[in-house]
Formats: sequence, C-alpha cells, structure tokens
Amino acid sequence: MSKVHNLGFPRIGAQRELKKALEAYWRGDSDQAALLAVGKALREKHWRQQAEAGLDLISVGDFSWYDHVLDMSCLLGVVPERFEHAGGPVSLDTYFRMARGRAPSGKDVAACELTKWFDTNYHYLVPELAPGQQFVVSSDALFDQVAECTALGLSPKPVLVGPLSFLWLSKLEGGDKLTLLDGLLSVYGEILQRLQSQGVEWVQLDEPILATDLDEAWQNAFEYAYNRLQTPGINLLLATYFGGLEGNLATAARLPVAGLHVDLVRAPEQLVRVLDQLPPYKVLSAGVIDGRNVWRTDLQACLDTLEPVASRLGERLWLAPSCSLLHCPVDLAAETGLDPELRSWLSFAAQKLNELDVLRRALDEGRASVASALAESQAAVEGRRHSARCHDPSVRARLAAVPQDAAKRGVAYNDRAVRQRSSLSLPLFPTTTIGSFPQTQAIRQARADWRQQRISDEEYQARMRAEIEIAIRRQEELGLDVLVHGEPERNDMVEYFGELLEGCVVTRNGWVQSYGSRCVKPPIIFGDVNRPQPMTVQWAEYAQSLTDKPVKGMLTGPVTILQWSFVRDDQPREETARQVALALRDEVADLERVGVKVIQIDEPAFREGLPLRESARAHYLNWAVESFRLAAAGATPDAQVHTHMCYSEFNDIVEHIAAMDADVITIETARSAMELLHAFVDFDYPNEIGPGIYDIHSPRVPSVEEMVERLQLAAERVAPERLWVNPDCGLKTRAWPEVEASLANMVEAARLMRERA
Ligand code: GLN
Ligand code: ZN
Repeated sequence: MSKVHNLGFPRIGAQRELKKALEAYWRGDSDQAALLAVGKALREKHWRQQAEAGLDLISVGDFSWYDHVLDMSCLLGVVPERFEHAGGPVSLDTYFRMARGRAPSGKDVAACELTKWFDTNYHYLVPELAPGQQFVVSSDALFDQVAECTALGLSPKPVLVGPLSFLWLSKLEGGDKLTLLDGLLSVYGEILQRLQSQGVEWVQLDEPILATDLDEAWQNAFEYAYNRLQTPGINLLLATYFGGLEGNLATAARLPVAGLHVDLVRAPEQLVRVLDQLPPYKVLSAGVIDGRNVWRTDLQACLDTLEPVASRLGERLWLAPSCSLLHCPVDLAAETGLDPELRSWLSFAAQKLNELDVLRRALDEGRASVASALAESQAAVEGRRHSARCHDPSVRARLAAVPQDAAKRGVAYNDRAVRQRSSLSLPLFPTTTIGSFPQTQAIRQARADWRQQRISDEEYQARMRAEIEIAIRRQEELGLDVLVHGEPERNDMVEYFGELLEGCVVTRNGWVQSYGSRCVKPPIIFGDVNRPQPMTVQWAEYAQSLTDKPVKGMLTGPVTILQWSFVRDDQPREETARQVALALRDEVADLERVGVKVIQIDEPAFREGLPLRESARAHYLNWAVESFRLAAAGATPDAQVHTHMCYSEFNDIVEHIAAMDADVITIETARSAMELLHAFVDFDYPNEIGPGIYDIHSPRVPSVEEMVERLQLAAERVAPERLWVNPDCGLKTRAWPEVEASLANMVEAARLMRERA
C-alpha cells in the first residue's frame, strides 16, 4: 500500500474566508477571538477534507495567518529589534506588525521586506537575521495545531521550511549566513523533539533551494545539517520542488532522512537518476500531480510511469502533488459558470486530492478498480488535445508567417528619440505616472454593478468616462507632461486582458494567495490566443480626446500575462507568449490609429519568470525579450514605447532589458535610494529611464526636497536628456488626497531640476 500525502493545502478558504477575517480584524471590526475561530475552523475543514479524500498523512503548519516563512521566523525567534519583542511567544499583533508595519495594537513600524517565493507570484516575508543571531523557540502555534489535528483523530505531518532554505531566504547584513547554521540547528532539533513527544512520526522539511544551483559550501552544509537533525522517533521527509535536483541530486539522495520528495512535473526526466541513487531504506515521494497549474492530470500516462516504480519500491513509493497546492485555486466546484467542456479539463486543489486517490487505488488494486475515473481523465485529456477551441488555424498561420524583422523597430533608438522629442514636444525631465489612479469605492461599485447587470452598458461607459475625465483634469492641473487614463475599468492588469482575449478564460472564484490577505485570480490560457476586438482603445481614445497633452496607452506585456496566468501545458510557453504578443501588437497599431502616441507595455513579472537554474535562463530571456519586441516593434518610429518593471532585481538581466529596446523604462527605486539604478548605469543602459522617486507603497507624501535629492542622484549617473520623473508604480491602492499632494511635489521637483540644468 503506497501512502498518499500533500505538501500543503491553500489556506485562504474556498470563499476567501481568511482574507475577510484578517481584514476585519485589521480594520478593528472584529476581535482576536473571532479571527482565531475562523482560522481554527478553516484548518479543521481542510484537514477533514484531505482525510476524506484518502490522504494518509495530514500536513500541519501549512496554514498561516499571513505567510509560512514569517511563521518560521516567529517559531525560531527571528524578530528584528525594531519590533521590541520582549521574549516569550511572539504575539499575533507583533506578527502582523512584522508583516505589514501595523496591527490593532503596538506601534507602527517598518514592515519586513516582501519578496517573491522562487519563481511564483506568492510573496514571503524575508527573515532578517542579525550578526550573531540567537534562535529560540518563540511560538507554540505549530505545536498547538499538531494537538488540534491529533484531537480530530487524524495523523499530522508537520511541515516546516528546512533550515538551509530558511537561511538562504533570509538576509543578514554583512557576514556569512552559514555561520549561523549551528545555532539554528539546535532550535530545529528542539522543535523535532517536541513534535516527537506529541506523537508525530513524520516531519516534512521543505528545501526548495535544492532545485537551484548550489555551491559546494551549501551542498556540504546540507550534509552537516541533516546529520545533526537526526531525532530518534522522527522520520524526516525532505521535500524538493519547483524543479529537478540536477547537480544536488547526489547530496540530496544520500542525506540521512527517511524520505525524499521530488518534483516529477517540472522535472520528470530526473526519475531514472533519482531511482538509481535512492538508498534502499528510503521512501520516494513522487510529486506527480501539478501543484502549479490547473490542468487535469493524464492519469493513465502517470500510471505508465508509476507502475514500474511501484513494483520496484513497493510501500516505499508515496504519491503527492509536485509542490504545495498553495499555488492552486481551492475548488472547481465553485465554478458553476464555466463552460462544461472547459471545466472538464480542470482540476483545482480539491480535485487534485481525488486524482491522487485514484492513482493510489490503481497502484494498489489495479487499474480496473478505478476504470471509470481513468476513463474520465482520459476523455478530458483527449478532449483538450483535440478540441477545436484550443486550436485556431488562423492564429497559427499568422504566427508562422511573421516576418523575420517583425520584432525589430524600423528605426534605431537614437533616431527615434530625436523624432519623438519633436513630435511629443516634451521638456527636459518629463513627468508621468505608471498608469493606475486610486480605485475608489465608486469605481469598484460601478464595475461590480455592471458585472451583475445592475447597470446598463451605457451607464457603465458613462461612469468610467467620468472617472477618466477626473483623472485627466487632475493631471492637467498638476502639470504632468505625459498623462494616463487611470485604468478605472481594470480590476487587475492581467485579468482584464484575460477576459478580452480569445483562448483565455477567467474564473469566478479561482483565487490564489499572492501575499497576506491579497489574492489574485489568474486567467486560464487554454488555447490559441487571439484578439477578437480592440481591448483598450476606446478608453485611451476618449482620454486623448480630452487633452492636448499626450496620453499613454496602457497594456500588459506578454511575459507578465503568461506569468500571472495558468498557461496551457501542451505547447512550449514561448509559443503562447508569441501569440499573446501578436494580439498586443494589433492593439498597439489600433492605439496609434486613434492618435495615441505613447504606449506603455508593462512587464512587472519579467524577472519573476527567470528560471531558477542558470542553465535555463538564456533560453527564457531570449523568448521573453523577443515576445516583448514582437508586441512593441510594430509601433511607428514617432510612437514612444514605454515599459515598466517593479519589485525587480535587475543586476543579472539589464542586458536583456536593454535588448527589449523600449524607448523608456520606468522602474521602482525610491526605497532603495536609487540603488536599483546602478545596474542600469553600470551597463550603460542606452535608452531613456525613469527611476521611481515616489514610494507608492506608503501613504506618506514625499517632500519636494527628497525627490530632488533622488533625481540629483540619478542625474549624476544618467544623462539628463534620458531621465524621466515618475513614481515607483501605479497608484491604484492609494487615496486621491495623498496622490495629488505627492504628484504636485513630484512635478515641482522636476521643475527645480530643469531650472538647475
Ligand atoms: N500600469 C499598472 C498600474 O499602474 C502597472 C502595475 C504594476 O506594475 N504592477 O497599475
Ligand atoms: Zn509596478
């Protein structure tokens, strides 16, 4: 009998109950007892749901109030000094202050840094280590939850971020993080003992860094650490995911742990080598159900792979999703509005558990025992493979006929710049914003009313136009040079396009946690992508009609659309990216046709898509740059193409950003005192650049002086003719009063710079 288990279940709840409870608590509309009760109920529901689906071991510790890495920091006592934690268990409000700088009780304080979890759109809070950091068990949450789970009569398998991944994800000012390993291991040891005394038999330690390139010091640290972590009575399951083990395989295979989990969805080819190197005592947890995507599994193909492994390993073969189901929507059952054919191709977290159970039964009792489930899976897979809705010959024919030079602007940047300067008549240090303006309650209400058909199309148009007019007038009054329409019609920069493109569908309730209480609803790209009609043109045209200043058309780039969607897995991603690029290319042409002369193609997820392995990066960068260019390069030389990226580590990719050949790039730099700009300066970035001088993540209004200071820092490094003046990112989460005050200061800062130039 093989065991089935799960690496983690979504914590937000099928109806985003956790989000609602958290936000009510933060607002002061509910108390801690109410919040705790919601968390407890969600855990119980998810545990029971998994037990009923036939899982043998129930993950505990995957629930989190905000982020599981932050949970680890609290468990290990890694609380930076500014939070004034006096020792003992970290309180819930201290935890929230670490996450978001603010909680119902305690002083406001700078939150911990939020950054992306590997190549996902999930964000974790970066643990801040101090030199000589002491580690002390400082939370009972995990132990309490283990007791809760046991009390329900279930078998808990606690899940922790492993010590090396924890260290690797942390930051330490100066010094080598590995010097802290010893102290850290002592506390992990204590935790394991405590779990053992609670009757736990298996503990899952997540070490996703084993799917990245590790140098010898880190590989050796694995040997050392896992030798020290031996705890009598505890079986360790070392979980790796998001890629293959490659050069770390030998290290991972020989660690003294009872089980190894490998990702066979992202890296199916590693199975043979893993089996070769797996010591005879070890359990292999085969991650065969895709935890990063929503497609129904080809169960027959899966069994073709698993059957020989099962006969070789017997009970030592376990089955699991490839990674935590955190990255999947919760339950397809809520998608009653989806077309039935499409729906039959999908599997969300709840359905993935059932798929696991079918696989197990097929292995234990033979395929015949689950014949109808297998037939259903087969029909779905075949249906998707052959469905006419996934294959649009005209899209394919067009892509095949794209001329070689389509991804190249007709005129080189230097000449374009001269032409644009005269056609747009912009001053030195031109000012602009990144696209969105505050999404007020009235705007949200209008969108919701229209969706629910409570207001007519005409009424909706009128309300959006009124919002656009307000945005244009305010920008004119502020004296900005390049205006935006403000994006009132967009719920989300990817979902908006997902709704309008053919080959894409948007779910009703397919929420996935992005960070804390923030969830996103990634579109599903199931087939060839096509633009049946213009997507943004009417809004841009209207905005431009209101003013003599140039208004930027606003598009989301192909890489970001892919990165923030669930993408079909039956063709290479780059092919889908090129299809999206062509759709955007048509939009660019249509925008120009109605007189829009500046077009921004946002690519904030460009860096996020970078493969974890060095060896795969060149290929990615190549198609990512190419698809951006395919989208942009149809623009005439007089049209100015902007792009925007935020939250990015640019160091290793500036060369490729330059190759995108946007006329202007705006980036996020305000918080880092222009630090992010260095990469562009060192590379001699050739085109125009707008380093953000206004930190939009905070409600604080930046002063003229501090913005001038930032601009001066920038002007020392970049020729003034190539500098733009703008905020870090869009302003949709802010309120108008602070936005107007901040932008007034920003425009004044630009004016002072011009005076001094
Ligand atoms: N144009 C988008 C906005 O302003 C860009 C958002 C982003 O970079 N994430 O909202
Ligand atoms: Zn941004």
